[in-house]
Amino acid sequence: MFEFRHGSLHAESVPLEAIAREFGTPCYVYSRAALAAALSAFQSACGGHDALVCYAMKANSNLAILNLFAGMGAGFDIVSGGELARVIAAGGDPGKVVFSGVGKSAAEMRYALGSGILCFNVESPAELERLAGVAGAMGRRAPVSFRVNPDVDARTHPYISTGLKENKFGVEFDAAFGLYRAATRLPQIEVIGIDCHIGSDLIQYAPLIEALDKMLGLVDRLAAEGIRLRHLDLGGGLGIRYRDELPPDVGAYMREVFERVGERKLKLLFEPGRSLVGNAGLLLTRIEYLKPGAARNFAVVDAAMNDLLRPALYQAWHDIVAVSDSGGPGAVYDVVGPVCESADFLGKRRELAVSAGDLLAVMSAGAYAMCMSSNYNSRPRAAEVMVDGEKTHLIRERERPEALFALERLLR
Ligand SMILES: *Cc1c(COP(=O)(O)O)cnc(C)c1O
Repeated sequence: MFEFRHGSLHAESVPLEAIAREFGTPCYVYSRAALAAALSAFQSACGGHDALVCYAMKANSNLAILNLFAGMGAGFDIVSGGELARVIAAGGDPGKVVFSGVGKSAAEMRYALGSGILCFNVESPAELERLAGVAGAMGRRAPVSFRVNPDVDARTHPYISTGLKENKFGVEFDAAFGLYRAATRLPQIEVIGIDCHIGSDLIQYAPLIEALDKMLGLVDRLAAEGIRLRHLDLGGGLGIRYRDELPPDVGAYMREVFERVGERKLKLLFEPGRSLVGNAGLLLTRIEYLKPGAARNFAVVDAAMNDLLRPALYQAWHDIVAVSDSGGPGAVYDVVGPVCESADFLGKRRELAVSAGDLLAVMSAGAYAMCMSSNYNSRPRAAEVMVDGEKTHLIRERERPEALFALERLLR
């Protein structure tokens, strides 16, 4: 959905140059068709099986994206009360929401239970106890899955690996059986499922299958004990192509999942985040200055680490392309922003034929990009635009500098 036409990069049918002219830079640009295609590929891979795709909205929580996915029947994986408020504001169905996260507050639990969410993915015995208390006080029963930590190595960046014993996530695999037995005795708790999520940006799905097998073993042991679960939630984690990776094929992964689940009467839940939005967005930025040097040449652009943190945080690699050929001389540049940190780079040692004033597109910026942005250096957050065919929609205004300190107060 992002292609060169007559030497100029387009989002669907709209030239990025036109978007920069109308909305300014830096600016996130998403393709509606690419978003819809990614969700629909996941949903079709569920075939005729009883399954629900719950978009892990922390990857990109813009209301227009949530609204698009909600309209296509998606549920949502949330990690805070704020995310639930977004789902509701975007017209999503709380009855298709699963609530993950190790630190749910009592207020968040009350809000979620009152909204009628599908399931709490409980991550510790202490959380179960708090949830039972909250549900009891409300005269309700809370639907629960345990997020089980299968101790499987997702073989990804350590910051986004979550399914190892040393990670903070989930209940220990060996303790899970006992916890289920204890939970079924609590009148305020309705045990309905089991959940795992082992990490993000996996470029092979073997670890996901390894985790699945451990989950199915547990499901069977619980069934033998008379604890029959309604659903199995396999989390998210499928990687995408940033550079030349060969990410897992959704269809192949799902076929293997359904084959292993076999005849068991289990609804399958999936929580994809990155794989639904990552390659459906880019960050459009303009070169302010070219700064040639003895050791390095720098292309100083108007986007920075506050807009896109992934390179600084995870040493992540994003493709950076010139939006059109301005006839600038070819050279190797570090593409850096205006923020006062040496970690403020979007890409290093990139071969570009550019001049000052040219537009660059930082690709694969649909996931964990805008949602991780900050106002560091009092930089207003970028605008967000969604392209649909020949139409452009502003889906988030560029922040105004006054808005950044509107909540602050002088001493009285
Ligand atoms: C982040 C997260 C996901 C989504 O992970 P992706 O790698 O973006 O697919 C799913 N489930 C949980 C619990 C998460 O924290």
